[in-house]
Amino acid sequence: MVIEANKKGTCPHCKIPNRFENATNHNDQVLHFWNVTNGLDNHNKILSLCRCTNCGEVIIFFGETMVHPIGSTRPPCPKEVPTNISNDYKEACLVEHLSSKATATLARRCLQDIFHQRKIIKDDLSKEIDEAMKTLPSHLSEAIDSIRNVGNFGAHPIKSTNTGLIVDVEDGEAEWNLDVIEQLFDFYYVQPAITQSKKDALNLKLKETGKPEMK
Ligand SMILES: [Zn+2]
Repeated sequence: MVIEANKKGTCPHCKIPNRFENATNHNDQVLHFWNVTNGLDNHNKILSLCRCTNCGEVIIFFGETMVHPIGSTRPPCPKEVPTNISNDYKEACLVEHLSSKATATLARRCLQDIFHQRKIIKDDLSKEIDEAMKTLPSHLSEAIDSIRNVGNFGAHPIKSTNTGLIVDVEDGEAEWNLDVIEQLFDFYYVQPAITQSKKDALNLKLKETGKPEMK
């Protein structure tokens, strides 16, 4: 999603949610966007800039691609996610707009590591998706099922048997994989941690009043 002036979002520089403002030059002239004639067919592409109101850094987009800073416009990876999984996820986000093949490959590996960490271990990713679907709420089970459809696993069986291999990707596959992983992070890691911290706080209160703790 393109970051624009007067819109709210998370800054790719400082990672703080804020409202973006117009970038200006030293004469306070607003530098907003330019329609640039691009390619052999001379189609228009928009070069746009805006500025973070928190850190003051400029963000530049050419079309849908963020060219400064190089990196992801996605929210930061939740701290509750195990390091081996979050490292792959962060790297996948970093190259999302540069290489869809690399992104999809890292995302598939990330997905498989999430399943393995939950002791869902089968011959291939497709079978692991089947197994995981049995225990997920319907919206998430449909989301992970669609990874196979969007990625056209039928035509590329190697995607499920050798998740680390770099193979051709379908349109939107890399982005969709990361979208689904974000939802899985919330379900598997973030929400249980919130519940646990609430439980701990309640148990502390119960303990203070001499009552038995909640199991
Ligand atoms: Zn910022």
